[in-house]
Amino acid sequence: MSALFRPDSFIVAEVVPSPNHDERKNDRAPDMILLHYTGMPTGDDALQRLCAPDSKVSAHYVVFEDGRIVQCVPEERRAWHAGVASWAGETDINSCSIGIEIVNPGHEFGYRDFPLRQVAAVISLCKSIMTRRGPIPPDRVLAHSDVAPTRKQDPGEKFPWALLSESNIGHWVRPAPLSLDGQTLKLGDSGDMILRLQHALRAYGYGLEETGHYDETTRDVVTAFQRHFRPARVDGISDASTLLTLRALIETRPEPLA
Ligand SMILES: [Zn+2]
Repeated sequence: MSALFRPDSFIVAEVVPSPNHDERKNDRAPDMILLHYTGMPTGDDALQRLCAPDSKVSAHYVVFEDGRIVQCVPEERRAWHAGVASWAGETDINSCSIGIEIVNPGHEFGYRDFPLRQVAAVISLCKSIMTRRGPIPPDRVLAHSDVAPTRKQDPGEKFPWALLSESNIGHWVRPAPLSLDGQTLKLGDSGDMILRLQHALRAYGYGLEETGHYDETTRDVVTAFQRHFRPARVDGISDASTLLTLRALIETRPEPLA
């Protein structure tokens, strides 16, 4: 049994403590919010796993489909939700982030739309975190798939990032239309265009090497990018719409917070 603790926010309905956490390294204050889906048949299955000592996984919060918010780990502690991951050159994502698990069966068990009540609860929770802890840079409200593109798909292309953005959470631009003409880059291609694509993805934060070869990692990063920022087509092929959307994001990227 893990000790009960006081929830960090009054919007938390219940504390269900998980033993799976440790200290944030180097006193790192969290400045990232990482969103996940639970990817299990039910929310209760997921909550049980996140609190089981032998699972070695956890998250700070679980948001159920009816909007109920459960806290499992105090925000000041380092929850174990990111795994092997990287963003903007940093690899200990658990130390720099607050992890939110959003209940959804996921691609494996019947991926479905996130109910509006649930999305509203995620928005309230993010607002609460930012109000109490100070601003989180918009471009550091991310998907698990953004920081672990070769392993993870969550929270996936059905997650309504546009709605979060309307509440000033996260960095988002209207995706460029699919119908745009232009060069298409895909697995197996090589050349300067690939180098430029990799450079741009890396500049935005994605962890990949600039090799000039459209390898499997590049395809996975493009797929993760599309799930988050151009969800109308998720195919790992960099078309004109993908490139323009990426360019628009880089151009509108907010200044780093002082
Ligand atoms: Zn995840």
